[in-house]
Amino acid sequence: MTMPMDNTQNQETWPKGTQVVANYNFDGSSPDDLPFRKGDVITIIQSTKDPNWYKGKNDHGKEGMVPATYVQKRREVHLQAMPWYHGKISREEAEAMLNNFREEGDFLIRDSVHFQGDYSLSIYFDGMVDHYRIIAKSNKLEVDGGDCLFDNLIQLVEHYQRDADGLCTKLIRALPKQGDSFGAVRIQDFEAGGWVIQKKDLQEIELIGRGEFGDVYKGLYRNEFVAVKQLKDQDRAAQAFLKEASVMTSLRHPNLVQLIGVVLGDTIRLVTEFMGKGNLVEYLRSRGRSVIQKKDQIDFATDTCAAMEYLESKKLVHRDLAARNILINESNTAKVSDFGLAKYGDYSTEGGKFPIKWTAPEALKNNNFSNKSDMWSYGILLWELYSFGRVPYPRIPLADVVMHVEKGYRMEAPEGCPKQVYNLMLKAWNLNPSERPTFKDALQELQNLRATTV
Ligand code: ADP
Ligand code: MG
Repeated sequence: MTMPMDNTQNQETWPKGTQVVANYNFDGSSPDDLPFRKGDVITIIQSTKDPNWYKGKNDHGKEGMVPATYVQKRREVHLQAMPWYHGKISREEAEAMLNNFREEGDFLIRDSVHFQGDYSLSIYFDGMVDHYRIIAKSNKLEVDGGDCLFDNLIQLVEHYQRDADGLCTKLIRALPKQGDSFGAVRIQDFEAGGWVIQKKDLQEIELIGRGEFGDVYKGLYRNEFVAVKQLKDQDRAAQAFLKEASVMTSLRHPNLVQLIGVVLGDTIRLVTEFMGKGNLVEYLRSRGRSVIQKKDQIDFATDTCAAMEYLESKKLVHRDLAARNILINESNTAKVSDFGLAKYGDYSTEGGKFPIKWTAPEALKNNNFSNKSDMWSYGILLWELYSFGRVPYPRIPLADVVMHVEKGYRMEAPEGCPKQVYNLMLKAWNLNPSERPTFKDALQELQNLRATTV
């Protein structure tokens, strides 16, 4: 194994709090050193006079000297903008838009109308619009008749912007989508960011759950239990799956399920910390009133609220907050998981299916998602928590829930629910989003209540 021994040509200095990930094993040669294994995550505590050495701390709180050449900075993975991607528009709409633009090399990409999962590339050239089919197969993309394979649309566009390579012209000017544009994740950004885990380092133990995108396994990674979410239908869901992972790379909080890394290759896997007691609904239902105490309930409520306050501070909207998406670990800490629908920004106009009983009316009706619509869902979650995992709005048919709610109907307090908690639910269910509490306010209240709950 070779490794760079000098770091003087290296980058910026890492400030305190920077997360780095080890690229090599380091045994250390003095008691001051911090030994680590490849893949360990270390937090920088302070730089030293020597640019090759930092003082760092590992996950177990042990501190010591870290050689900079053995580690790399962990970077967040962000979505890349795809302004030229228009999603589901027809061939005629594409032609109309490009005919309005009328410059050689103007282009856009849209979903194929006839071949689900494929795309079409529409280009204005020589007074007319040409359409090329982009075929998706085994996780790669290829322009019909071309001989290059691409990992994603961004790579494909970059290639044909450099060179026509068989097309009528090279791509010159993107016709941008109006409104919210789509984003994509580049697989190589996970490598560059230090998030990639080798499959051989991961051992799968047993199936523990089924998710929307695939099965969830308990696994072993570097002597610790982990959860492994395995993507089943590669072509279709890979982007959505990687978006969830990319959101997670920017998050770190004791009450958020932590991303450990991703396994790339034929089967994409998302590796997170293992939450031994499973999801909160099943936990509540299986243990019930005999096991779960007032103290546990207020602890779970506060844990969840703390995570949500963190998301609120980052302007990240979860959009699928519910007890089924809260996980419990062996030491009874509750953590928010499932960032599959999460989005940055105040709201999104992108359509989708939402869990009706958990979603705020303005989000259901106008797609107006915000930290305030998360607060509505949090109120429902509190109700689930204090009713030991019952399904909300029992006896009201799904289709009628919104109507009843808009007329002013609210669920009653679950039996034994502290009145402060029920008050919080009612405030969370205010029809006017701006009158709902912030997670910051809610957290304050819950912490006060927790302090007096035995
Ligand atoms: P989905 O994509 O459908 O939302 P989830 O992430 O909610 O999938 O996972 C489905 C189920 O797998 C969860 O309800 C839970 O029981 C189990 N599970 C998921 N992640 C973990 C984890 N980190 N630790 C333990 N169990 C987990
Ligand atoms: Mg889920």
